Amino acid sequence: ASFLGGVEPSPPDPILGVSVAFRACDDPNKLNLGVGAYRTEELQPYVLEVVREAERRMIAAGHDKEYLPMQGLAEFCGATAELLLGKGHPAIAEKRVATIQSLSGTGSLRVGAAFIAKFLPGKAVYLPSPTWGNHKNILADSGVEWREYAYYDASTVGLDLAGFLKSIDDAQEGSIFMLHGCAHNPTGVDPTLAEWRQIADAMQKKNHVAFFDVAYQGFASGSLVEDAAAPRLFAEMGMEFFCAQSYSKNLGLYAERIGALNAVLNDATAATNTLSQMNRIARAMYSNPPVHGARIAATVINDPELFQARSRWNDEMGTMAGRIKTVRRELFEELTRLNPDKDWSFVTRQIGMFSFTGLSPAQVERMTGTHKIFMTKDGRISLAGLSSAKVKYLANAIDDSFR
Ligand code: PMP
Repeated sequence: ASFLGGVEPSPPDPILGVSVAFRACDDPNKLNLGVGAYRTEELQPYVLEVVREAERRMIAAGHDKEYLPMQGLAEFCGATAELLLGKGHPAIAEKRVATIQSLSGTGSLRVGAAFIAKFLPGKAVYLPSPTWGNHKNILADSGVEWREYAYYDASTVGLDLAGFLKSIDDAQEGSIFMLHGCAHNPTGVDPTLAEWRQIADAMQKKNHVAFFDVAYQGFASGSLVEDAAAPRLFAEMGMEFFCAQSYSKNLGLYAERIGALNAVLNDATAATNTLSQMNRIARAMYSNPPVHGARIAATVINDPELFQARSRWNDEMGTMAGRIKTVRRELFEELTRLNPDKDWSFVTRQIGMFSFTGLSPAQVERMTGTHKIFMTKDGRISLAGLSSAKVKYLANAIDDSFR
């Protein structure tokens, strides 16, 4: 008998569990569209050339392995805030941005949630319905209450803007709204810039605070600037907000766990104090962040040749985003060929890695059971895991499962 004998097994993670099931399957046609990691046309993982180059330079520089400060690598913190808001942004110049390097998007969200629990006790965080499942875990484990706001309209496989605005209006004044900065996960449905303006106006009227989750900057459209339009709009409107950033997708640094939490505020003293408290939270949680990914990201962002407008990083992001757009179009065309009576345009309207197919859990069962296509139960597929060569196979399976 163990003193932990009463511990029940945790249910498998709905997203990471898909990869476990995929690995256990020995069908040669199997396809993993569960987890959101980029694959080449050959369905292999991809390390960006700019990352390899940054690592070569880092090895040549012969850095030591001393602890970073709690806040992380200074060059990285400066670079990541600039990437979010734009170089020379007034909020940065006026020292109104508190930025802490953290453990990728998840860790940054977790520090933000801990901050809310500690300094904004009793405040609920509103999450889009649906949202990335881990948002709920992160808030619940931090002791922060979460609720849902209307976001997705199943009848159009698009944005429920009216419902979204109504949720904003109905929420208690000064609530926190988690907003996916771009490439909404799992739906791939984003507001247009005009719709973002309406959302920002409605939130400003109610003194709500945004908590942006920016996990796909540059990866959605291929442009770092375009994909940061929403948080930049809020900053331009003088609205204060939190923003978690991740370099898992846009730099392909999944396992390096590199990201940041920013608080963009209207007051420099508030920013200084907020940063000191974020540091205090990190101190007790993991003390200080890992250095390798921070050096890579800082090297790429701060190097004009690796970064600038026609930079190699942009080219590589353009290639990744472009490949996903290509398989989107091919999938749309193939589905339309198989069933011209159904409107498949949502496939090409959605943005980012994911497509919400509208497949029911029973239909997903058929996708996996019969066709060996592994995906999450909510009907989401990761197009980053699809190759042109596999489009026909996937389209046939989707068409069959819908019938
Ligand atoms: N937020 C969203 C919406 C995501 O899709 C992801 C990645 N799946 C993350 C945050 C965080 O990922 P990571 O911790 O690897 O940066």
